[in-house]
Parts: sequence; C-alpha cells; structure tokens
Amino acid sequence: MQASAVEIRRSSRRRRTVSAYRDGDRTIVLLPARMSEAEEQRWVGVMLDKLAAQESKRMLGDAELSARAKVLSGQYLEGRAKPKTVRWVTNQNTRWGSCTPAEGSIRLSHRLQGMPEYVLDYVLLHELAHLLVPGHGPRFWRLLEAYPRTERAQGYLEGVVAASRLPHLPEARDE
Ligand SMILES: [Zn+2]
Repeated sequence: MQASAVEIRRSSRRRRTVSAYRDGDRTIVLLPARMSEAEEQRWVGVMLDKLAAQESKRMLGDAELSARAKVLSGQYLEGRAKPKTVRWVTNQNTRWGSCTPAEGSIRLSHRLQGMPEYVLDYVLLHELAHLLVPGHGPRFWRLLEAYPRTERAQGYLEGVVAASRLPHLPEARDE
C-alpha cells in the first residue's frame, strides 16, 4: 500500500547513494542530482518497497497491541478503558477498527499494518474510547481531545480511502 506523499530531494553532493525515510505521513527520497527520470522512478519504487518491508518487520503482534492499548488508555483515558482482547483481523475491509464493549474486545483491520504509528494509535484510542462511550456524540469526541494527532490521523485515513478509489497507475519498471 502506498498512500503517503513522496517527496524527492536531489543533492549535487550525493553521487551514488540513494536513501529514504518517513517524515510523518510523507516519504522523503534522497537522490543524487544526476539521475535520469527512468532511474529516478525505479529508485523511488525500490526505496518504497524497502521501507515497507522494514515497517512490516516492526509490526506489532497481538500481545504488543494489547500493551499499546494499555499505554494509550493510561495516557489519554485515565486507564478507564480496559480491553480484554485486542487483535488484528483480516476480515474487516470497510472499517479500520471495531469493538464489542460487552466482551471488552477490540479488533483492528490488518490494513493498518505498516501505517504510521500515530495513525494506529488513533484508531486504537478511538476503539478504546468506544468501550466507555458508544456512538460518536460530543461525549465521545471529548475523550479523544487530549490526543494531539486526531485530525492528522483522520486526514491520513481519508487519504488512504481516496487513493484506493483512484485508478491504478502503471508500475515503474525498467525498460
Ligand atoms: Zn467510532
């Protein structure tokens, strides 16, 4: 999945090395100044794949997800949200997360894997808040007020949805 914006920076001091990193929801790719358009496209593809692979290696397991939920609950909800289970699911394609307050269970869509941490935290916190308040009324949103990146995370997720509706661009490849 490639939803974040890619920014290409060329440096005349850079001769051979190509590198890339994430900056919030942007991806910065550093390239040498002299590089053809085709080479540039190829390298951007290579670096995006590399970053994605690193990120999926960092991916949290269900146990770490539960630990993360505990931290977020403590930090933003005074520890009041206490889920019994937090796990990834692959059968959830129209929602990022869901919960069943009666069971204290939270499920997160596997499509969040590899997204920036602040986005995952937002979805997790959102579901934690639902354990306390159902629906999306003012009481619910008040619980999320303390989380500083709600709007940014929502924007990121909206961007992902919008991008998935765009026609697919042909892959960059070697001619
Ligand atoms: Zn909700």
